[in-house]
Amino acid sequence: MRSVINSETEQRLFFHNYKRLPLSVSRGEGRYLYMEDGSRYLDMISGIGVNALGYGDRRIVEAITRQAGKLIHASNLFMMKPQFELAEKLIGITGLSKVFFANSGTEAIEAAIKLSRKWAAGSGNPAKKQVLSLSNCFHGRTYGAMSLTAKPKYLEGFDPLLPATGSIAFNDIEDLESKVTGDTAAVFVECVQGEGGVHGISKEFLALLAELRKKHDFLVVADEIQAGCGRTGKFCSYMHFGLEPDIVCLAKPLGGGLPLSAVIGSPKLENVFAAGNHGTTFGGNPVACAAGLALIDAIYEDALMERATESGEWLKNEIDALAARHPQIEDVRQYGLMIGITVRREASYYVEEALKRKVIVNATSQNVIRLLPPLNLDLDEAQQCIDCLDEIFSQET
Ligand SMILES: *Cc1c(COP(=O)(O)O)cnc(C)c1O
Repeated sequence: MRSVINSETEQRLFFHNYKRLPLSVSRGEGRYLYMEDGSRYLDMISGIGVNALGYGDRRIVEAITRQAGKLIHASNLFMMKPQFELAEKLIGITGLSKVFFANSGTEAIEAAIKLSRKWAAGSGNPAKKQVLSLSNCFHGRTYGAMSLTAKPKYLEGFDPLLPATGSIAFNDIEDLESKVTGDTAAVFVECVQGEGGVHGISKEFLALLAELRKKHDFLVVADEIQAGCGRTGKFCSYMHFGLEPDIVCLAKPLGGGLPLSAVIGSPKLENVFAAGNHGTTFGGNPVACAAGLALIDAIYEDALMERATESGEWLKNEIDALAARHPQIEDVRQYGLMIGITVRREASYYVEEALKRKVIVNATSQNVIRLLPPLNLDLDEAQQCIDCLDEIFSQET
């Protein structure tokens, strides 16, 4: 049976867990997505922060094709060269010590939760189980990750959640001090919150977290799933804040568009997992790892972190100028090419208006327009996005 690709068929075929745009995408090229009807859209969201190089980068396509021709899957019963090479790179970049590969962000978080609890189990304190996160965070949709994502919208109807989890108010120093104790196994942080609306953690909060870590001996887990791989102008966003995490989670762009995530741990975690403690069939898939290697090489080869810094600052200036003329803009936050624009109504209105003008932006946290463009966005394209927003704000009724 042939399917007509439209919203009606979508409702018939699928569970209703996604709110898809009424667009049927066919291919991508550079920073543009082409629809089945041939129309072309500037992509300022990169498949939710995944397509760091935009679409059709020759190096990624070649790496995938070459590896697929050799070996697509063999499982972690074996040693595979692309995994080894990517692990070496990630250890080199972070200065950490051991890697576990999984397939998605939420799986990286699950592995980090298990690693934290198993580490804490060796502390001699049987109550050291508590895993904390920050308000307004997002860590994923599986049970452990969801239990850390302390947002009623994500939790309703799904209880009971993972026990011994809890939330600290974001950037609230007093709350941090009162919540962490000797029973805390780990604190999960996004140094720049993505789904939460692009909010940066404060240096004071992180400094206190580091101090409390010395006192209570817990792990600090940096969720770099959205902010990592160069997006904020450094390889990981924690590198802007002087944080020394015990665990780093990477995903979204890591596999060059293929499903891949990584958990990278410090030397003190080296011997926590024993054989059989954790695993996944597809984790570290050689094709995904080959794509990941090509991605990381391209980030350095093309100086994409420097480019993200420059074009991010350019965009921030332009959006500030828009804010000076359009009172609908309440606040602008920018970390490299991770940009949040708080507006005074539902941000979904602007998403729809931008779509009419063939620009794809995204709404998060109700009233935040979020931009996560490919890191190789050029200034003509950035200008096109600014002109589009300017027109929408000017014509808004
Ligand atoms: C997207 C995201 C996740 C979850 O990743 P999935 O691959 O969707 O499971 C976790 N943490 C952060 C910060 C994210 O942005």
